[in-house]
Amino acid sequence: MPAAATQSPVDRFSLPDSGGHFGPYGGVFVPETLMTALQELGAAYEVARNDPAFQQELRHHLKEFAGRPTELYFAERLTQHCGGAKIYLKREDLLHTGAHKINNALGQALLARRMGKKRVIAETGAGQHGVATAAVCAKFGLDCVVYMGAVDMERQALNVFRMRLMGAEVRGVEAGQKTLKEAINEAMRDWVTNVRGTHYILGSALGSHPYPMMVRDFHRVIGREVREQILAREGRLPDEMIACVGGGSNAIGFFFEFLEEANVRLVGVEAGGRGIRRGDHAARFEGGKLGVLQGCKTYILQNDDGQIELTHSVSAGLDYAAIGPEHAFYRDRNRISFAYACDDEVMEAFKLCSRLEGIIPALESTHALVHGLKRAKEMRRDEILVINLSGRGDKDVQQVAKILGVTL
Ligand SMILES: *Cc1c(COP(=O)(O)O)cnc(C)c1O
Repeated sequence: MPAAATQSPVDRFSLPDSGGHFGPYGGVFVPETLMTALQELGAAYEVARNDPAFQQELRHHLKEFAGRPTELYFAERLTQHCGGAKIYLKREDLLHTGAHKINNALGQALLARRMGKKRVIAETGAGQHGVATAAVCAKFGLDCVVYMGAVDMERQALNVFRMRLMGAEVRGVEAGQKTLKEAINEAMRDWVTNVRGTHYILGSALGSHPYPMMVRDFHRVIGREVREQILAREGRLPDEMIACVGGGSNAIGFFFEFLEEANVRLVGVEAGGRGIRRGDHAARFEGGKLGVLQGCKTYILQNDDGQIELTHSVSAGLDYAAIGPEHAFYRDRNRISFAYACDDEVMEAFKLCSRLEGIIPALESTHALVHGLKRAKEMRRDEILVINLSGRGDKDVQQVAKILGVTL
């Protein structure tokens, strides 16, 4: 029975259960003061998601503000270059603020407004989620505070300035490694203190219930569009779909509509960094273990004492020690498989995509490209591969120039 169960497609709508569990993963691990806030949020979201007026409003802003639908683009020259499967790119890079993150930021800002919360807080690593949050807060007239590690603020000074231009207050965090993990801690501390009038817009399919489910739902539009677009274009579903996985939000949104399609292979790509050695990567399924981090039970890179390992990736958006709980669940079920791409391969694919397609991809998205190019070469010419291009690389060109030794 268990063997057969792992073979059959999954009932995607049964997850998570009412406690926010995806099998053994997910759940709620927060201080008592936040329990009420999370329950309130869960209840408000449940009403909103079933309210046609909310969905209609969200669709309206996704179109007019974010720029949906995004194109499903046939990458002709990358396809020729590989000589195998037809490669399509889902162009989330064309969205306002440059990545898929605006889908979720819009959804949660609308929800905050509905809940009567006038103040929004968020955490950000590279600054992409911070920029998306600052933009929607400006649009809806919400006060916005973004927590960001001091090291990240220095590395991503341009995004800090963008957020401030749009009226957000960016607060530097000096604790620990001064990066994303510490910024999340500070955001949670703020939320505990100001929970009444404040909504916390979490940026990935992570954290405590209802966040992983809610963030997933706000990104499902990606996969819904892909289904429609590929059917219109090719008259059938793709053979394989590939997305990069940091916390896992662009990937789960891209995959969700296809979870029950047993003939569509789904592959998540993690950050292999400098290689799979302790502290040199952020591939949670390459050596990670079950644990709890920042409200969520999932695969985590940790040492034998449960202390969080240092992580590394050329792309800040994939550089986090935990993976979204839903991905861990589907991996156990053999429904989503995982690979990783290393920094040097990412640099090569970044240049290749720019040169052959005239599209500069985000370094995060380039991880999906690396694996996609390998797979396309192994697949037949009559097969179809869709890669989620989660964001554009404008934010990364300075860093890439530095790595390549080019002075700007
Ligand atoms: C933030 C980011 C990611 C990683 O986040 P997920 O939640 O895993 O999607 C990937 N791509 C881009 C362009 C990003 O900005």
